[in-house]
Amino acid sequence: MTKREISEIKALLQSPKKIVIVPHKNPDGDAMGSSLGLYHYLKLFNHHISVITPNDYPNFLKWLPGDELVIKYDNNKAAADELIINADIIFTLDFNALHRTGNMETILTEADGIKILIDHHQQPDNYAKYIYSDVTICSTAQMIYHFIDMLGDLKLLNSNISTCLYTGIMTDTGSFRFRSTTSTTHHVVANLIDNGADNAQIHNNVYDTNSYNRLQLLGRALNNLNFIEELNTAYIILSQKELNKYNFQKGDTEGVVNYALSLKGVKFAVIFIENQKESIIKISLRSKGNFDVNTFARQHFNGGGHTNAAGGRSELSLKKTVEKFISILPTYKNDLKS
Ligand code: 5GP
Ligand code: MN
Repeated sequence: MTKREISEIKALLQSPKKIVIVPHKNPDGDAMGSSLGLYHYLKLFNHHISVITPNDYPNFLKWLPGDELVIKYDNNKAAADELIINADIIFTLDFNALHRTGNMETILTEADGIKILIDHHQQPDNYAKYIYSDVTICSTAQMIYHFIDMLGDLKLLNSNISTCLYTGIMTDTGSFRFRSTTSTTHHVVANLIDNGADNAQIHNNVYDTNSYNRLQLLGRALNNLNFIEELNTAYIILSQKELNKYNFQKGDTEGVVNYALSLKGVKFAVIFIENQKESIIKISLRSKGNFDVNTFARQHFNGGGHTNAAGGRSELSLKKTVEKFISILPTYKNDLKS
């Protein structure tokens, strides 16, 4: 973002505005942490702010400060459309293309409000007036911190802002262990702790609130682990029947793919999750090193994301989706073996 753009945004925020903040569909920790972190920052001024998510998000995020104010588009469409159409400013966070908001795409495309995109995914679309895109930053939450810094307002960090941003950074870095975690990330996080983020409590709230069923489902997933040793690839399949057996709740499969990636030597890990309601197979892809799952997901599974973490979907059956995957794999033999 240029200095001129920052001063334009600063001028824009000088007087009370109607603001809408939107993260991607199926919001994760970074989507919610960055949205609510920005909310608490803007709240310090006299704006009218709404956080509107395309749909619901996991229970392990429902303790975030401001959670009770979040409007879910899929069951409040009329009221949300009104807020979006009347908004002076629309922040779109943690996604790179409006279709990532699912059913909100149409209304967001139509809305006249000034759009500000803040995101760390590859290849952002050009729908926003102001674009702060940086694929080298680990999380959108860290970008919100830098955004507040660019606006000269780090002195305004409070415990609500810090708690939300810490949560986004923590979840998108796999608790500060992915390659995207830099010394800057640690400096940012240190400052968030100094300004009221209770790090041990946040870890507990997000990671140590599992239901018994969720852990049983994880056990099932680990039993379903397949390992293609010669291609350094591991994958997990979860059918709708298995999800039902363990009373699947949103978020229960979050992070499961990382167990496949933790197998010694594995460079490429995938989980296929059947979603009968949407008639799709949701696919999460992870890699170590240079194997680019963003490109893989874009080319074969209608998705995208980052080099080492991406998502996608398939409209084939579960069985056919996995067969397709297995048939494609050998063409990547050189990348996966080296
Ligand atoms: P996950 O596998 O956890 O759903 O997503 C991994 C990463 O890829 C996240 O950063 C997520 O935002 C992104 N992602 C997931 N699904 C899609 C998709 O369908 N399209 C694009 N462009 N990115 C995705
Ligand atoms: Mn993110």
